Amino acid sequence: MSGNRRENALKTIGAFRREPLGHFVGGAAVNGAGAVSDVLEPATGEVLGQVRDATIDELNDAVGAAKSAFPAWAATSGDKRKAILHRIADLIEERADQIAEVECLDAGQCWRFMSKAAVRGAENFRYFADQAPSAADGQSLPTASHLNFTTRSPIGPVAVITPWNTPFMLSTWKIAPALAAGCTVVHKPAEWSPYSARLLVEIAHEAGLPVGVLNSVNGLGETTGKRLTEHPDIKAVAFVGESKTGSAIMRQGSETLKRVHFELGGKNPVVVFEDADLDKALDAAIFMIYSLNGQRCTSSSRLLVQRSIYDAFIAKASERVKKLKVGDPFDPATEVGPLIHPRHFNKVASYAEIAVNDGARVAAGGAPLAGAGGGFFYQPTLYVDADTSMRIAQEEIFGPVLTAMPFDDEADAIRKANDVQYGLTAYLWTNDVGRALRVSRAFEAGMVWVNSENVRHLPTPFGGTKASGIGRDGGDWSFDFYMETKNVALAYGSHSIQRLGV
Ligand code: NAD
Repeated sequence: MSGNRRENALKTIGAFRREPLGHFVGGAAVNGAGAVSDVLEPATGEVLGQVRDATIDELNDAVGAAKSAFPAWAATSGDKRKAILHRIADLIEERADQIAEVECLDAGQCWRFMSKAAVRGAENFRYFADQAPSAADGQSLPTASHLNFTTRSPIGPVAVITPWNTPFMLSTWKIAPALAAGCTVVHKPAEWSPYSARLLVEIAHEAGLPVGVLNSVNGLGETTGKRLTEHPDIKAVAFVGESKTGSAIMRQGSETLKRVHFELGGKNPVVVFEDADLDKALDAAIFMIYSLNGQRCTSSSRLLVQRSIYDAFIAKASERVKKLKVGDPFDPATEVGPLIHPRHFNKVASYAEIAVNDGARVAAGGAPLAGAGGGFFYQPTLYVDADTSMRIAQEEIFGPVLTAMPFDDEADAIRKANDVQYGLTAYLWTNDVGRALRVSRAFEAGMVWVNSENVRHLPTPFGGTKASGIGRDGGDWSFDFYMETKNVALAYGSHSIQRLGV
C-alpha cells in the first residue's frame, strides 16, 4: 500500500490520532474519558487509531448542546439556513479529495468511487439547502365552513446513526435534510470508520453552523448508540444499518416513543429477461454488486436470468468477475478493495462452505485473496445454479459475492425476486414495455430501476419495504420525517354549533 493519497489521509487523521478520537460537542472537540476500541485499516490490517465511547455524561452533554441550540436554529429563517448549508457544500467540494482519501483509508473503499461520493455529499447539502426556505410550507384544505391550513415545524433534536460502508455520503444524506428542516443533530458514526464524520462536523462549523446545531459522538452501538436512542430529549432517530439493529433501536426508543426512520439491509434482485440489452444488463449487474467492495445496501446481490440465456450470460459474467482488479483502494485502477474488518471478513468468508453445502456451484472466487496487502481481501465471487431456499439467496452477505439462478417466465421471475425478507431495490432488464410495467408493479421493493443501475435523483423517494426499512428519504419525504405537521382550522363564523344545556 503506498502513494501520496494514503500519506495525505494518514496526515489528515494524524490530527485526531494523538488521543483516541473523542467527540465534537457544542462547537468544540472533546477528548472524552470513555472506553476505547481500535480503528483498523482494512487494506493492511494495521491499527490506525482508537475511538472512544461516549460516557453517560458526555452523551448527555451532546444531547444537551443539541437541545439548547434547537430553539434558535428552528427560528432561523429558511434563507439563512439555506446560505449556511450551501457554504457547507462549498467546503465539502473544496475538501472532496481529503474526505475521499480518509474514506479509502478507514473504510477501505476504492478511490474511483469515493472521489465521486464526497462530491455527492456536497450535492446532498445543496439540494436540501435549496428546500430549506419552503420546508415549513403546508397545504390549504378548505371546507364551506372552515379554512384548514397546515404548517410544519422541526421536530426537535434528532439522532442520526450511520454505518461504516460509505460513511461520509450516507451521513450527509441524513444530516443535510435534518438541518434544512431546522432540527439539531447528534450524529453517531460507525465505530469502524469514524474519521470522515469528524471532518464533516468541523467543516459545518467552519461554514458558520451555529454551535450545538450539529454534534458528533463516537463509540459502539451497544453503548453510545443505545444511550442516544433512549435519551428522552431526542425526538427522532434516523438510522442506516442492519435490519436487526433497526429492531433493537425500535425497542430502545419505545419507552420515549421515538419517531424512527430506518434504511436497512437488502438482498436485491437484478432480473434479466431474454429480450433485454444483455451487454448493458451485464455491465449493470457486475457494477451493482462488485463496486463499493460489495458493501452496498442497494447492491444487486441476486442475479436472476431467464433460462434461455442463462448459461451464456453466466459464462460472460464469470469471465468478468475473474478479471476484476482487486487491490490497493488508493490506486485509481482498483475496482474492488478490502472488506472493512476481520469480523465482517469472517462473515463473508463463512458463506463459501454454506454455498457449497447447500448445493450451489462456484463459478468464480469463493475464497480469501492471499497476498493482497495484508488486509481483509476476499475474491470477487460468483455462485451459480442457486435456488431461493439457499442461504446465499436469502441472507445479506454484504461483500463482493453474487448469487445467480435461472427463471422460466415472468411469474417465476416475480416469485423468485420477491421470495426474501428484504425489499429495498429491484433491477429489471427487458425491452418489453408492458412487461417492464407489470413486473415493476409486482416487485416487493421500495425502488425499482428498469434498464438501469442505481442512478439516484434526489427529489425521488429512497427507502425500502419489508425488512429493508421504514420511511423514505429524498425530496419532501425527508421533511415529513424531520418535521411535525400541524393543522389549523379557522371557522368562517357561518356554521352552527350544537347548543347543549340551553
Ligand atoms: P449496523 O446496524 O451494525 O451499525 C450501524 C450503526 O448502528 C453503527 O453506527 C453502529 O454503531 C450502530 N448501532 C449498532 N447497534 C446499535 C444499537 N443497539 N443502538 C444504536 N445504534 C447501534 O450496520 P453496519 O454493519 O454498520 O452497516 C451495514 C448494514 O447497513 C447493512 O445491512 C446494509 O445493508 C445497511 N445499509 C443500508 C442502507 C440503506 O439505505 N438501506 C445504506 C447503507 C447501509
